Amino acid sequence: MADMINNEEILRTDALTLGKKIKAGELTSVQVTSAFIDAIRAEDGKYNSFITVSDDALDEAAAIDEKIKAGELTGSLAGVPVAIKDNICTKGMLTSCASRMLSNFIPPYDATVIRKIREEGMVILGKTNMDEFAMGSTTETSFYGPTVNPRGENRVPGGSSGGSAACVAADLAPVALGSDTGGSIRQPASFCGVTGLKPTYGTVSRYGLVAFASSLDQIGPIGKTAVDCAALFNIISGIDERDQSSAESSKIDVDAVSSFDVKGKKIGIPKEYIGEGIDEDVKARVMEAVKYFEDNGATVETFEMPIIEYAIPTYYIIACAEACSNLSRYDGVKYGYSPDGVEDLMDLYIRSRSEGFGMEVKRRIMLGNFVLSSGYYDAYYNKALQAKALIKKAFDEAFGKYDVVIGPVAPTTALKAGESLSDPLKMYLGDICTVLINIVGLPAVSVPCGNDREGMPVGMQIIGKHFDEQTILGFAASFQKGGRS
Ligand code: GLN
Repeated sequence: MADMINNEEILRTDALTLGKKIKAGELTSVQVTSAFIDAIRAEDGKYNSFITVSDDALDEAAAIDEKIKAGELTGSLAGVPVAIKDNICTKGMLTSCASRMLSNFIPPYDATVIRKIREEGMVILGKTNMDEFAMGSTTETSFYGPTVNPRGENRVPGGSSGGSAACVAADLAPVALGSDTGGSIRQPASFCGVTGLKPTYGTVSRYGLVAFASSLDQIGPIGKTAVDCAALFNIISGIDERDQSSAESSKIDVDAVSSFDVKGKKIGIPKEYIGEGIDEDVKARVMEAVKYFEDNGATVETFEMPIIEYAIPTYYIIACAEACSNLSRYDGVKYGYSPDGVEDLMDLYIRSRSEGFGMEVKRRIMLGNFVLSSGYYDAYYNKALQAKALIKKAFDEAFGKYDVVIGPVAPTTALKAGESLSDPLKMYLGDICTVLINIVGLPAVSVPCGNDREGMPVGMQIIGKHFDEQTILGFAASFQKGGRS
């Protein structure tokens, strides 16, 4: 029975199918896990998508196989391996946030999502590369070196969850977890040609997620298909007393996602999402995808959303303000990088932060402290909160009329390596289509919808009402079922 499917096929197979085959006894978790671990060891030198590869994965898989056999684990993804972004705490396994500051941090506890993943019987393959502290859009600011996009030589994988998207795209993991503060699941999924879900704020516990900007951060799944993302979302979501902002939400009906019909659904497209500054190929692919929905009975309307103009400043003010406060805990005393031979307490603070943080993180700490300082607080931070209220109002109005809002994930496809390191402002502007969603806490999925003229993947973004992951994943699944990618 064990040779019914070979290793190469295992690597290409989606997570739910692997889960089914493991349950049916056609495959074991050990077989599947060793196929992925071997592939990572053989191939990841090219991509650098992992920071840490687990030494325990095969032992974990063997124990899980026993439990599956005994009928103790019956979930749809039991025995299936998963890769985890390196800002999610894993007990006993390095959780570095791709920063020198946490390059020695071995958490003594699991994040809630990790506890849930272990309870399901999924196997952790390792920890994936990312922009330092999740700040960036290219996975080039990592202390452990950049990740390479498996879909194009010399192209960035996007960020900050670039390692998670790249390892799924390279068939080194069937599914992965990322985090999304302003697009960090959706944009790398788009650049690497895989599917990524940023869930409604509060549906997935942030306990054990190293904080970047707490009012925006959200953990979510990346996979080969929307249906896999739905299944993984069901495992990691749920209210958690350890996260004060977590909310009760209902589970997704995965079968209903698979058989979703877009007929009669209403799609709204903000004109600004297909206007100036958006690459022609990106626009064309997204509009072709929308046409597919229209051909299948959905109605489509464009509408104006001028508030999009304020998306980038609003996001960067709020994100940096929260980041500078969250990152003040790294002082060289409690945990993390601490230099030798310091002279006094001030020297310890200065040297641990100067040497422990990279350029992009320092830039954000300075920006954050500036917008929160007395004299500027009203001019910047309070203004951003006012803009946030207006953005929320604009989406409330849109969702009064439409079931989903569709646009591109990013204005371009994957950038060339090195391009945005020299020009951070350009990098920030690339977040124009994703950051609004975090500001108002909505769910959104990134779905591959063809390639640009250079063969790089384009991502369509489907945005839903709060807690309506079901509908946006349904749209995505119906597109993928139609043979579109
Ligand atoms: N690119 C955005 C930023 O640099 C988003 C990052 C994220 O979602 N973690 O802030």
